[in-house]
Amino acid sequence: MIMRKYTYKLYPKPKQAEALLGQLRLHQQLYNAALQERIEAYQKCGISITYNNQQASLTQIRAEHPEYKALSCTSERMTLRRLDKAFSAFFARVKRGHTAGFPRFKSLSRFHSFDLLDTKFQHGERKHGCLFIKGVGHIQARGKSRLLGKIKTSQVQHKHGSWWLSLTVEAEPDRECIEKKACGIDWGIEKLITLTQPGGEYFSIKNPRYYKTGEAQQTALEQSITKKKRGSNNWKRACKALSCFKRKQANQRKDAQHKLTSAIANRYTLVAMEELSIKNMSRSATGTCEQHGKNVKQKAGLNREILDTAPAALMSMIRYKVEETGGELVSTPTRKIKPSQRCPRCHHTHKGNRTTQANFTCTACGFHQNADVVSAYNSAAWALGLGREHVPEVFASKPLLSTA
Ligand SMILES: [Zn+2]
Repeated sequence: MIMRKYTYKLYPKPKQAEALLGQLRLHQQLYNAALQERIEAYQKCGISITYNNQQASLTQIRAEHPEYKALSCTSERMTLRRLDKAFSAFFARVKRGHTAGFPRFKSLSRFHSFDLLDTKFQHGERKHGCLFIKGVGHIQARGKSRLLGKIKTSQVQHKHGSWWLSLTVEAEPDRECIEKKACGIDWGIEKLITLTQPGGEYFSIKNPRYYKTGEAQQTALEQSITKKKRGSNNWKRACKALSCFKRKQANQRKDAQHKLTSAIANRYTLVAMEELSIKNMSRSATGTCEQHGKNVKQKAGLNREILDTAPAALMSMIRYKVEETGGELVSTPTRKIKPSQRCPRCHHTHKGNRTTQANFTCTACGFHQNADVVSAYNSAAWALGLGREHVPEVFASKPLLSTA
């Protein structure tokens, strides 16, 4: 069994939208009241109130306030649970010695969703569906779940003025891997991925560089906001235009990643990939007050490019899709193997082997090949336990994937 999340857009009628907003507000007030109660009990009496205490007092709240009685009880519990999670996270941060952010009161503009436990959602024949919420009625929903299964939890979200339903579904995996091959993957900025098979066939996909291509347009949109009077109708319109642009860009990236990772999962049952440490890679070069960093500006640009490829999302997509076919994603230990510095033919591992970003020339045996291809091959060879004698005679580019 696997867990998957699917999002549907909700189409409430005007009255229903009003009711939804009313429910969201009640959840927000419940959240703030519960936070207030915890703070006061601690300040006045030194008592720590738990989730169980607050959950028990829900009965009383529901008896005294009929508007809360109109909501689903489990849904209210989920909101209290959310506050409890915020406190647990806070205490965990304190324990680790971090400067901890205390859970804060939330205005409606910071409170975007409420949860449903017993979701009454009716799937359409192949897609779309209908959601029933107590006190609101039946709401039409548009979207599609690739896997139909048991709905565990769901969340009603209010974003950019629209309503959304996020379903968490438990289902049996049903993806099929056709060719059942093995490969290694190297991730990069110039080429988004390079994929090498143990036989030496390789394939790379250019990085679409969404950030760079849209940079000028984004700057123009940002500048148009600063030129307008804050809070005015024109200002609001300009803010909306920017958020639309960013959403469109994110959707394009996600769509391309889904196509690519599905194509990989359709062909490969064993995928080896270097463990990525995005946090370290994209660490700011600013440094500290005492010690200023070098090349701050260049590093900031590079960080943007790293994050633009969304490597973590790409890797997790490959992982879950390959696992859905019954395959496996293996993480190659970077420090032990050093895939980008190791010669596939003689295993001589040295920094100097990589003459430039793109070129690999072994200083011991003279083996020459594209650096990304070498790195991806080394990952695959390590995962399969292949020795030096298995290195292919020729590395040949082959169109393995039909997606561009
Ligand atoms: Zn060599």
